[in-house]
Amino acid sequence: MTHSSELLSTLEDKYRERVRIIKNGPCRSSFILYWMCTAMRSDENPALDIAIYTANRLSIPLLVYQGLSNRYPFASDRHHMFILEGARDVQQQLAKKGIPYIFHLEGTSRVPALKILANMSSLIITEDMPIPHLRSWTQKLSQNTETPFWKVDSACILPMSVSNQRYERAFRFRDDFTTNRNNRILQEWLSPTLEHTTPLPTLPVAPIDLQSAILSNLIAQCPIDHTIPPVQDTRGGSKAGYQRWKKFILHSIEAYHYKRNDPNAHGSSRMSAYLHYGQVSPFRLAREAARKKGKGAEKYLDELLIWRELSYHWCDKTPNPTRLSALPQWAQITLSQQSSTVRLQQQPWESLLRAKSPNHLWNLAQQSLLRHGELHNNLRMTWGKMLHQWTESPEQTIRWLLDLNNRLALDGRDPSSYGGLLWCLGLFDRPFPPSKKIYGTVRVRDEKAHRGRLNQERYMQHVRRNENTSSTAIVGAGISGLTCARTLIDQGHNVKIFDKARGPGGRTSTRISRQDEDWIFDHGLPFIQFTDPRFELWVKAWKNADVIRSWNPKIKLWKKDSLLTTERTLYVGNPKNSSVAEHLASEINVQTQERIVQIRYTKQGWILTNQHKNEHGPFLRLILTLPPEQLYELLPNRLSIPGHKVHSHPQHALMMRFTQPLHLEAEAIQFQHHSLYWFCKESSKPTRPPEHQWTLLTQPSWSSKHLEEDPKSLVDILCTDLSNTLQTPIEPVQHQIHRWRYAQADNPLQIGSWWNEEYQIGACGDWLHGGSIEGAFLSGAHLAGRLMTQ
Ligand SMILES: Cc1cc2nc3c(=O)[nH]c(=O)nc-3n(C[C@H](O)[C@H](O)[C@H](O)COP(=O)(O)OP(=O)(O)OC[C@H]3O[C@@H](n4cnc5c(N)ncnc54)[C@H](O)[C@@H]3O)c2cc1C
Repeated sequence: MTHSSELLSTLEDKYRERVRIIKNGPCRSSFILYWMCTAMRSDENPALDIAIYTANRLSIPLLVYQGLSNRYPFASDRHHMFILEGARDVQQQLAKKGIPYIFHLEGTSRVPALKILANMSSLIITEDMPIPHLRSWTQKLSQNTETPFWKVDSACILPMSVSNQRYERAFRFRDDFTTNRNNRILQEWLSPTLEHTTPLPTLPVAPIDLQSAILSNLIAQCPIDHTIPPVQDTRGGSKAGYQRWKKFILHSIEAYHYKRNDPNAHGSSRMSAYLHYGQVSPFRLAREAARKKGKGAEKYLDELLIWRELSYHWCDKTPNPTRLSALPQWAQITLSQQSSTVRLQQQPWESLLRAKSPNHLWNLAQQSLLRHGELHNNLRMTWGKMLHQWTESPEQTIRWLLDLNNRLALDGRDPSSYGGLLWCLGLFDRPFPPSKKIYGTVRVRDEKAHRGRLNQERYMQHVRRNENTSSTAIVGAGISGLTCARTLIDQGHNVKIFDKARGPGGRTSTRISRQDEDWIFDHGLPFIQFTDPRFELWVKAWKNADVIRSWNPKIKLWKKDSLLTTERTLYVGNPKNSSVAEHLASEINVQTQERIVQIRYTKQGWILTNQHKNEHGPFLRLILTLPPEQLYELLPNRLSIPGHKVHSHPQHALMMRFTQPLHLEAEAIQFQHHSLYWFCKESSKPTRPPEHQWTLLTQPSWSSKHLEEDPKSLVDILCTDLSNTLQTPIEPVQHQIHRWRYAQADNPLQIGSWWNEEYQIGACGDWLHGGSIEGAFLSGAHLAGRLMTQ
């Protein structure tokens, strides 16, 4: 068996200097595995070239494996689509070269394909990408295999292994490697031809044919963030990338040095997303730009070879580029000295994400990220610096800068993103005394001056291009309808919601009395919890925005007769549970007291008829968010939702006020009883009036039996059951009872949402996504994602 170190010594110098050994050892005689992650291209790709070379040298086949996980940070429809489009090109190009390639979508199969293949192969080759999650994935794989493992720098013209020290100033990095760099700029990368295509062993997953697959359907199956849609005018893949590059090098590079700083001049290359995913070769870009010559090309090369690669080399030598400790000492000190400065204008993360800060220019920049997944480089510097005034600390600034950028930007999570974002807090820079509030001696960017340089009106038109003015109607302003609406509206869609109730919220409503301001009962959803990280993100965002508060009641599980303090924190709306829906509904056109009794499809779109026989519409698209029984009734016969018929179970809510406190050890009790289900003290929730008010929710099976009885006639029965069970008199001075005919789905579907492309009609709601408020939220997001991915 050939030893991997022996194999390495046979490589040409230009390849060998790019290899870093993760694991050495004897190479078994099976096949070379190229695990393609961040150099998604078949041309000018040193990792692929080395894989072909070693396969030829050992006279064995080569397999290129690309897996798309759901677990990479900020996985969303946007990133998934860009990667899938790139993988489609790779599949086609490698097929032409006769190189076997498998694409594995983790969302559709849970087989640990990479681990299996790694343990079967002779040598594993991947790219050297110095970003935290890829570092840890590579490390994890190496711990799970004995197979020799190399990583190859396929991203930098000056390989990262060439520099030993961590450079923090661009001029030093530029000057120290001028010759080294110049020697490599014009280097040609001609791939060797694969010689051995002997059959591979049986593969652990069936490869997906990306040429015929409908990518939006694949994405809809993946449990990722569906609220961030693909970017309409930036398609992924080498073909699209090189098309954009050709246009730039033919028409724009000459003026790059004076146009690149004005977002309205459209003078930048917009190649960063393609470079980040390695869908275009930086070697080709550098070579072609160098051959162009002139001031524009020089400036472009300075950005590509110095600023971009400085960040790569810096990340390579920085264990964790997401921490404050990654900044230069002087920046850490000056920012810490300002930590106690009171920030008057702190903003919640959610407002920032949704481009709702107090500053118009910042919001336009953020909207560009939100809708188009890109932000002009010069504006990104002002955007990043400004964010610091709205956070509570420099640590939070770093966290939020990385979050907003990596979540939305197609070039997010790239080493140059880390470099660029941390520049906003002093990286690659020097102190600028005198010290200023909040920023210390970190360079400040004058927003007013930037506004003066930029034609904001023109930039706004540019950012708001592609707005979808075709109208969408949503029936139902519960959590699912509101989530769907808000996601679409944030992306520029025109949405109107109709609800039969007096306000938004649906089953999360709170009962309030007009005569008695202390009569506040969360008589529907009693509290919020999360299990899915995608919902957790928003629960935490609402907490950060003070829309909800945490609630840690002492809960007694009755049957077990033991008092438990909840392990998991629960959340309730502030000052009432319907506050969440009201928060989601702000800035949405919700028409209340509109019961939709009929929907009709016409050539012009959907027409909705309300209880007074008034018509609304036509709307191009229609989304129904009602509980299942009500939705089936409204849906025209020719349309049906796949899967079993879902039923809801009813529940009664008995709201009671007492003159004296009830002497129970707990603030909430969960029963296993024929009629009683949940009994909770409203005043134990934060920001509720101090009145002795308790809400009882009934067992669904009991409510089913008593569904058609007058609810008022059930109050005595329930009070007696409570008294007997708790061994204490239950004698409310005031009470109200509410019947929820459709409280919760009995046997929810797990399809996310339903969409019919032909009729442009869809449905979302808790019952399509596993039930619960979490399901309602995720279902609304899922449907919005489907519409925007079409
Ligand atoms: C008593 C009770 C207890 C619950 N307990 C929990 C719990 O512990 N944990 C949990 O996670 N979830 C719980 N839930 C469920 C949770 O509240 C729901 O899963 C979630 O609120 C559903 O949201 P949705 O948007 O899917 O539907 P809904 O909130 O039902 O929204 C549908 C909307 O459509 C409107 N509508 C209906 N028909 C029409 C029409 N013809 N025209 C116009 N508008 C119409 C309704 O007014 C409503 O606003 C509980 C619910 C109830 C009622």
